Amino acid sequence: MSHSAEAKAQYNLNKLHKRLRRGVGQAIADFGMIEEGDKIMVCLSGGKDSYTLLDILLNLQQSAPINFSIVAVNLDQKQPGFPAHVLPTYLDGIGVDYQIVTEDTYSIVKEKIPEGKTTCSLCSRLRRGILYRTAKELGATKIALGHHRDDMIETMFLNMFYGGKMKSMPPKLISDNGEHIVIRPLAYCREKDIEKYATAREFPIIPCNLCGSQDGLQRQVVKEMLQDWDKRFPGRIETMFQAMQNIVPSHMVDKNLFDFAAVTKASAGEFAGDTAFDKEAVPAKPVGLLAEDDDEEPQNGVVVQRLEISL
Ligand code: SF4
Repeated sequence: MSHSAEAKAQYNLNKLHKRLRRGVGQAIADFGMIEEGDKIMVCLSGGKDSYTLLDILLNLQQSAPINFSIVAVNLDQKQPGFPAHVLPTYLDGIGVDYQIVTEDTYSIVKEKIPEGKTTCSLCSRLRRGILYRTAKELGATKIALGHHRDDMIETMFLNMFYGGKMKSMPPKLISDNGEHIVIRPLAYCREKDIEKYATAREFPIIPCNLCGSQDGLQRQVVKEMLQDWDKRFPGRIETMFQAMQNIVPSHMVDKNLFDFAAVTKASAGEFAGDTAFDKEAVPAKPVGLLAEDDDEEPQNGVVVQRLEISL
C-alpha cells in the first residue's frame, strides 16, 4: 500500500472509531447502562459485532470518569470446526480478563431436535442459561451483548411481519430469570460501520454458520429488504430508527398503551391540536437523512445531541 493510501486508510479507521465510540458513549449515557463499580461481562461470539463491542468498551474504559471492569466470556458450544484457539490467542494478546466456557450444547441440540428442523430456539435457550450462570459465578453486574441498531430494526420488522407486535430489542432489560441486567451498548451503531471497523482492525472472525442451522432465513429476508431500502431510499433506515425513539401512543391503536375512553371534549386541552380529517403531512425528505459516510447530525433529526462519552 502506498503511503497516501495508508494514511487515508488510517484516517477512515479513526473516523469510524470515533463514530462508534460516540454512539456507544451516547447509548450508555441515554439508557444508564453502566454505573460506578460495575463488572461488565461482554459476551464474545467471535463475530464482528462482539469484537467491536469489546474493543470500544475497553477503549471507553480508559477515559471514563467512573470505574468499571470488563470480563470477556466466550461459550464454546462444541460446534464442529469451532477454532477454539482463536479467541484465547486474541484475548491474551489484548490483555483483557476473560473466560472461555465449554459446554457441548451442540450435541444436546442435535440429539433433541429432529433432523431438518431448526435448532436455534433450544440452542439459544441453553446458551442463555449458561451465560446467566457464568455471569453469576463471575459476579458480573451487567451482561453486554453485541446487537446493534440494524438488529433492532430487523427485530421490529420480524415482530411486525410474523409476531403481530410492535416490539424490538431493548437497549437495556432485566433478564428473563430476573437476575441480570442485560445491556446493548451498540444500540446506536450502524452495522455497516461495525463491518468496516472489524475489517479494518482485522479481528479474527469466527464464521457463524458452523452449526449449519437455517433459522436465520426470515431474518435474512428482512435484512435484505432493509439493505435494498437503504440503497434506494437514503435516510430511510435512520428515519425508522428515529421513529422507534419517538412513539406517539395516542396515534397508535393500542388501547392498553393509551386510554382512548378518556378522550372527551373535557380533555380537549390535553389532546387538542390534531387534524382529524386529513392525512398528516410528512417531510419531503426523510428526517434522518445523513450524508453518506458523514459524521454530521441528521438534518432535521430528533436524535438527541451527540455526546462525547459522558459516563
Ligand atoms: S445459528 Fe446455530 S449456534 Fe446460532 S442459535 Fe442457531 S443453532 Fe445455535
